[in-house]
Amino acid sequence: MKAAALTAPERVDVIDVPEPACGPRDVVVRMLGVGLCGTDTAVVRGRRKTPQLPWVLGHEGVGEIVAVGESIRDRQVGQRVAVEPNYCCLSCDPCQAGFTSGCRKRNAVGLTTPGLLAERVAVPAAFAHPIADHVSLADLVCVEPLTVARAAVRRSGAREQQHCLVLGAGSQGLLLCQSLLEIGITPAVQEPHAGRRELAMSLGATVGDTHQEVDHVFETSGAPGALDAALERLRPGGHATVVGMNSAPLAVSSHAIVSQQWSITGSLIYDHPVDFADTIAALEKGALEPHRVLQARFHLDEAAEAFTAVAATPGKCWISFEG
Ligand SMILES: [Zn+2]
Ligand SMILES: [Zn+2]
Repeated sequence: MKAAALTAPERVDVIDVPEPACGPRDVVVRMLGVGLCGTDTAVVRGRRKTPQLPWVLGHEGVGEIVAVGESIRDRQVGQRVAVEPNYCCLSCDPCQAGFTSGCRKRNAVGLTTPGLLAERVAVPAAFAHPIADHVSLADLVCVEPLTVARAAVRRSGAREQQHCLVLGAGSQGLLLCQSLLEIGITPAVQEPHAGRRELAMSLGATVGDTHQEVDHVFETSGAPGALDAALERLRPGGHATVVGMNSAPLAVSSHAIVSQQWSITGSLIYDHPVDFADTIAALEKGALEPHRVLQARFHLDEAAEAFTAVAATPGKCWISFEG
């Protein structure tokens, strides 16, 4: 069967790989769609090392169950599922406390365990979340990055009517805007790229430089210096949630943090199984339309082109296994 893999530094090819074996606690998923994000391009460009080459890429995947392991009773062939691509161990102290994003033995699909850009993939059944048939494939493809965004909003404690500033309108920034709109907040967005700004506005965010004080800042751009500049607008007692990453140190002083009583918190992925379950319930209710962030669709055979398009395309690129 076919898979899209990194075969050499910065080279993506469609290669032949063996069929997956279905372990007793696994399901085999026939993939229908896989979204691409900055993490994938970091792998392709060599900024994140892979255990070996060739390396099957992709972690934002959805599909249909085609085989069920012998110990699994609550999954069926034919169900559509979204893959939660961080396999936490469920037994370490953080996992036992429900803080699975802090798992010390977490396997990250596409990073430490092979990715989802293959025609069929074996997935631990607990991490293959069934979703109702009326949710469109395009909305389903966004479940994973949307769950990252919704978990950041949940952890921030942002409430209806509060003033929120989102830094960056890449796909994570756009999904964060949708997650804020979902709870009755109209976010203000800062983004240098005109196409991304327009997309944010079309979703209902406001853009443009105001100097209004804000209750929350969400940093999704990963641009060095972005958070420091935005803190000037954070009210005393305000909360900054950091999702985007870079390795430059922050310039904010402890004097500023103490005198302004700011909370600055990192938000990494989501916690199992509550955050995925919550996003899926919201999509089944029709509470938001993440497919509006999808802007470019490619076929598996065009994987190399798709990875090149990720950085230049406002919104999200995805790979469809159909048609
Ligand atoms: Zn991603
Ligand atoms: Zn764990």
